[in-house]
Amino acid sequence: MRRLNPLFEDMPTSIFEEMSLLASATGAINLGQGFPEHQGPPEILQLAADALLHGRNQYPPSRGLPVLREAVAWHYNRHQGLSLTPEQVVVTSGATEALTAALLAVIQPGDEVIILEPAYDAYRPLIERAGGVARVVTLTAPDWRMIEADLLAAITPGTRAVVFNNPMNPTARAFEADELAMLAKTCVAHDLIAICDEVWEHIQFDGRRHLPLIAQPGMAERTIKIGSAGKIFSVTGWKVGFVCATPALIEPIAKAHQFITFTTPPNLQAAVATALDWDDAWFEAMRADYQRSRDRLASGLTAAGYVALPSQASYFLSIDLAASGLAPDDVAFCRRLVTDHGVVAIPLSAFCEARPGGFVRLCFAKSDATLDQAVARLGLAREAMLRAETHG
Ligand code: PMP
Ligand code: GLN
Repeated sequence: MRRLNPLFEDMPTSIFEEMSLLASATGAINLGQGFPEHQGPPEILQLAADALLHGRNQYPPSRGLPVLREAVAWHYNRHQGLSLTPEQVVVTSGATEALTAALLAVIQPGDEVIILEPAYDAYRPLIERAGGVARVVTLTAPDWRMIEADLLAAITPGTRAVVFNNPMNPTARAFEADELAMLAKTCVAHDLIAICDEVWEHIQFDGRRHLPLIAQPGMAERTIKIGSAGKIFSVTGWKVGFVCATPALIEPIAKAHQFITFTTPPNLQAAVATALDWDDAWFEAMRADYQRSRDRLASGLTAAGYVALPSQASYFLSIDLAASGLAPDDVAFCRRLVTDHGVVAIPLSAFCEARPGGFVRLCFAKSDATLDQAVARLGLAREAMLRAETHG
C-alpha cells in the first residue's frame, strides 16, 4: 500500500497522552499532563447540567451561541480593557481548534511561522499540517526572555506569522511590557500576523495582570487572540475555546472552523457564558488557590534539595536538574522517576526540536496531600539518583 501522510504516520503520541497513560498503568502520581485534580467549580458544573437537561441539545450556530460571543467580548472588556464586538468572536472546540482554524486561515503553502521554544507541542504539527514551515526562536533559562536580535534573525521574506504563547507553557513565564512592545513593533515592521495563545491569561501570580498583545499599537489589525474556558474555569475536558480578531481575520477563521468541528456543545457554551460574568472575587480566589499550591510545591522541592525555576503563571513549575546536582538528561530523569519512584513529570526537551534538556515540568494543580506525597517521592528519587551518580 502507498504511504499515508508521513506527518502523521511518523508522529509519536503526544507526550501528555503518553505520560498520562503511563500514570494510569503504573498508578504513579500524575504531575505530567496539566489538569486540576479537582473536578472544577460545582457552580459551573450545575450550569452545564441544567443547560443539558433543560436547554437545547441540537446544533448551535457555527460561530457559537450569541450569548457566549457577547460574554467573551464583555469579559475581555472588563478584565483586559479591550473593545471587541461579539461579531469579532468565534467559539471553538478548545484553544487547540482555535489554533488549527487560525493557522489554516492564515498560512499558504510554504509560509514560514515563527515559534518560540520550548514551544507547546501542538504548534509545529499544526503549522506543518497547514502547509507552513516552523522557524524556531530559542528562549534560554532561567529567565526565558524574548531577545529582539534572535527574533529578527528568524524573520525572512517568507515569514507570515508568529505564534505567541503568553503566558507561556511550559516555561511558566508571563512576558514583560518591553518584550510585548518589541514583538508588536517587529510584527508591524515585517507585516506579520500574531497568533496569540493566551489560554493562561487568568492564571498569573504575585499580582500580575495579563497584557494582551492585541492592545499594543498597530496590533488590533494583525492579532488573533485565543482563549480557553477549560483553563479559566478548571474544566480542561470541556474544550470550549474562543478566538477573537478584527473582521478581516475572523471571517476566514470562522470559515475554517465550520469544516473542522463546525460547532461546540451548546450546554457547555451556555455554562461558560454565565461563568464569564462571575465577580472579580471568583477569579482572585481561583488565582490565590493555584498560587498557594505553587508555593507549597516550590517550598517542598527546595527542602528536598531541588532548585526550581520561578513560576509566574500557568499551573506548572520546572526543576533545574543541573542546579539540583543531577545529570541534565531530563528524559532519563522522567523515565526513572516514573518507573522507580511513582511520579510522572514532563521533560522540557519534549517541547524543543533542539532538545537542550535539563529541565522537568511539574503540574501543581493538585491537592495538598498529592503534592506532599509527590514531593516525598521526588526527594527519595533525588537521593537515589545522587547515590547512583557517585557510585556509578
Ligand atoms: N495552548 C496551551 C499553551 C496550552 O497549555 C493548552 C492546554 N494546556 C492548550 C493550548 C490547549 O487548550 P484546549 O484544551 O482549550 O484546547
Ligand atoms: N496543555 C496540557 C499540558 O500542557 C496538555 C493538553 C493535552 O494533553 N493536549 O499539559
